[in-house]
Amino acid sequence: MSIWRAIMKKPRTAVRSCQRKRAPCQEGREKRVLSGRQVKPSTPNGLAGRQEEVLLQASLSPYHLFRDPADVRVFRENLLSWYDREKRDLPWRRRAEGEVDLDRRAYAVWVSEVMLQQTQVATVINYYTRWMQKWPTLQDLASASLEEVNQLWAGLGYYSRGRRLQEGARKVVEELGGHMPRTAETLQQLLPGVGRYTAGAIASIAFGQATGVVDGNVVRVLCRVRAIGADPRSALVSQLLWSLAQQLVDPARPGDWNQAAMELGATVCTPQHPRCSQCPVQSLCWAQQRVSRLRKGQAGVLDGDLWRLTSASRLRWSGNGSWARGPRRAAPTWRSVVSASPSPAARRPALYPTLSKTLQSWATACCLGLSGAAGSLFPAPRAGPCRLCAPPTEPWDPTRGVTNFPRKAGRRPPREECSATCVLEQPGALGGPRVLLVQRPSSGLLAGLWQFPAVTAEPSGPREREALLRELQSWAGPLPAPRLRHLGQVVHTFSHIKLTYQVYGLALEGQTPVTVAPPGARWLTREEFHTAAVSTAMKKVFRVYEGQQPGTRKGPKRCPVSTPSSRKKPSPGQQLLDSFFRPPDASSLNSTAQ
Ligand code: SF4
Repeated sequence: MSIWRAIMKKPRTAVRSCQRKRAPCQEGREKRVLSGRQVKPSTPNGLAGRQEEVLLQASLSPYHLFRDPADVRVFRENLLSWYDREKRDLPWRRRAEGEVDLDRRAYAVWVSEVMLQQTQVATVINYYTRWMQKWPTLQDLASASLEEVNQLWAGLGYYSRGRRLQEGARKVVEELGGHMPRTAETLQQLLPGVGRYTAGAIASIAFGQATGVVDGNVVRVLCRVRAIGADPRSALVSQLLWSLAQQLVDPARPGDWNQAAMELGATVCTPQHPRCSQCPVQSLCWAQQRVSRLRKGQAGVLDGDLWRLTSASRLRWSGNGSWARGPRRAAPTWRSVVSASPSPAARRPALYPTLSKTLQSWATACCLGLSGAAGSLFPAPRAGPCRLCAPPTEPWDPTRGVTNFPRKAGRRPPREECSATCVLEQPGALGGPRVLLVQRPSSGLLAGLWQFPAVTAEPSGPREREALLRELQSWAGPLPAPRLRHLGQVVHTFSHIKLTYQVYGLALEGQTPVTVAPPGARWLTREEFHTAAVSTAMKKVFRVYEGQQPGTRKGPKRCPVSTPSSRKKPSPGQQLLDSFFRPPDASSLNSTAQ
């Protein structure tokens, strides 16, 4: 078979394989889970999916694909041997590798994958360790309360992740007999909050299913390796990246391969400072090759490609302006080819029709980063400009090197919102000073977490203070309004919201202390506050309050005034502050201290 035919041959489809040993008793259970009627007939990685991948790849410039099975093999081997040498020792890897029980192993992977979404590895390690100590099995997590989950998740951000994880564990325990679905397809279909990525990661790492996954790190690596400059969030590029990941994943070690690709993006092919000289797939990376060739100018680019293309098409450059079939004797230089042809128009058909055809099958000028006369030698593709290259309006930036890939899509700025919040404290409460916290609604942003009483506000609004006072009184009864002081502000950005908190403080000195709060509220000591299910934003608010206490340095000054909104919380069981005064019994102290 000629090299070129080999290049154009479709890659071998990854086969499913489970490298990790399965406990025999798990097999029957697996059948039971998979034969459930609740499984919908959608198979993203099945036959239909593979046919889609083939059609997709056939419609795109081959330059951005892996057409040569030898390249796929080298990519796998290089990446896996690098991973075996360099992989980080992480608690979830240790746990998954040492766990024989498939359900426990899948659960360990699931927890880590959910925690790692949008979060740095260094941050996750501590949370993961505490989580697995507290809830080592699906059954343990299923029996936990949402309050406990939020408490452990506090500070990790994106709080709905913890809630969905627990919902999923409950579903496995209550509806699936305690056994995790065994494939990416069924994981995605049956478990709430499990998307394509998480399903693929669990299936490949825990069950050895040969399915590729694409996260932000893999996007970066693949876009660079195949010089994909189009918007990675577009449907076409996203589809192609999943298709490439599926093609490249090693059927013998799918879990390791997926982790290796992500590890490469996290530690070597980083967003700003990739270390190409230490990269195990450097020889297959178009971005890196473009950078090094562009240093030599366009002729350098073409010489490299001519070498490869003449090898593939078995064309021999005679040196006097003609091409012939046969084994190559010496590498032609682009300059010798161009100088032997009278004009760009005449070059293509007259001098090297076969090469011209080959070039067209190989790449367009934009794929190779060529322009001007050199670029004109590449016949324009019939289907129009390459859909995987950056648009002409965003030309290659020589100062950015390989970080030209992937293309940075413009991010929408987060929505700006304002809130007024107050730390209401009883300095003389039993057991030490206590602050009032109220629970957020059970859905939406920070669902179920605890916060200081707050009202939404509008920037520059005049009635923020009055609205906040009303809110406080709805929870704590009549209050000494003149003592409500503005202390500063805190700005915290959630995933899509930039929230500015105007921070107020009110200390109930000299008043009758209380320990009982109406439903939905709690009086917590400072120590309890720091271990409660509160967000990082609330901890920042509390720091501003503490910074304003006698003996501490001044906190930040306030910025433009805001107005309260009409947020009005019903106050079930509202009572006057003094009515809470009663000798505390053990149960009431317990309930307030949770
Ligand atoms: Fe490796 Fe550099 Fe290519 Fe990234 S850009 S895949 S680090 S050679």
